[in-house]
Amino acid sequence: MKKVILTGDRPTGHLHLGHYVGSLKKRIELQKEYDTYILIADVQALTDNAENPEKIRKNILEVALDYLAVGIDPKQSTIVIQSLVPEIAELTIYYLNLVTLARLQRNPTVKDEMKQKGFGANVPVGFLMYPISQAADITAFKADLVPVGEDQLPVIEQTAEIVRSFNRIYKPVLVEPKGLVSDVGRLSGIDGQAKMGKSLGNAIYLSDSYEDLAKKVRNMYTDPKHIRVADPGNVKGNIVFEYLDAFDPDLEEVKKLKSQYKAGGLGDVVVKKRLLEVLDNFLKPIRERREEFAKDPAEVMKMLEKGTEKAREKTAQTLKEVREAMKLDYFV
Ligand code: ATP
Ligand code: MG
Repeated sequence: MKKVILTGDRPTGHLHLGHYVGSLKKRIELQKEYDTYILIADVQALTDNAENPEKIRKNILEVALDYLAVGIDPKQSTIVIQSLVPEIAELTIYYLNLVTLARLQRNPTVKDEMKQKGFGANVPVGFLMYPISQAADITAFKADLVPVGEDQLPVIEQTAEIVRSFNRIYKPVLVEPKGLVSDVGRLSGIDGQAKMGKSLGNAIYLSDSYEDLAKKVRNMYTDPKHIRVADPGNVKGNIVFEYLDAFDPDLEEVKKLKSQYKAGGLGDVVVKKRLLEVLDNFLKPIRERREEFAKDPAEVMKMLEKGTEKAREKTAQTLKEVREAMKLDYFV
């Protein structure tokens, strides 16, 4: 039997370059080899967008279009809408008893995100416990592997803990997953912040037009101390070079540019011009494929409906085993 991948994204906006290098690229590489499920996590998106249901609904289609545009193949990968899989919600309820409040509050990802969103003491319970519902996502599919960005590793660790508790207390029916982080586990934002994020306003989207892309590259954070072309510049923490490392296929040329920049004599304008070219070469075919798929949204929604149906067969089987293990199978 093929091993299982489960991964996903929150429909809080279009997907960006960080998603590509952090997770999409691996999914595309592995979709042939693994039984792949990709979750559009609308329930999780609502945990910090409760008052914005329209935004989440709208972005279901946008995220699906991004998937198709980058080469996720619905014949190989099953794309699923999270809220239509009630087994996940049921599992979440059972797992709530296996995790302490203190453990949740210690999760570094949740801590970071809570600070970023300025929740303070007014954090929605749903948001605080999203690692538990993510554990339900992963285990409902009995996933072996979860390709994620680095920021999600503590969540995978928490899932593994839940699996171990469940299997010890009840019966060993759950699979302990492993996180898979690619070479670029965390792509910085164009503003120099440590993570590009949909909700952070610092992203280059896979669907950006050439004009938007050019504007973003022009305003991109470089080395604030590199003022005159002749000055020696820093390539570390310089976003233009970080993106060249991630996207420029000509590694030798990037190496040369870096040593020129460090020595002085290479201006930001020249390096940015190269980056714009590299990124446009990468994004142009994605943009074009996306436009093609966008012509028939009904077809895309049909694909999601079919994927969700298939997912429910899988999760229903897991829940049957879970209920039996927990002695909740009263009428068999
Ligand atoms: P939001 O700001 O709404 O949380 P996001 O940009 O963080 O959106 P998610 O849907 O939360 O995107 O994340 C989906 C997947 O993409 C996760 O596996 C996450 O780790 C990965 N990811 C997101 N941003 C980056 C990034 N900048 N670099 C690498 N991976 C990323
Ligand atoms: Mg996120």
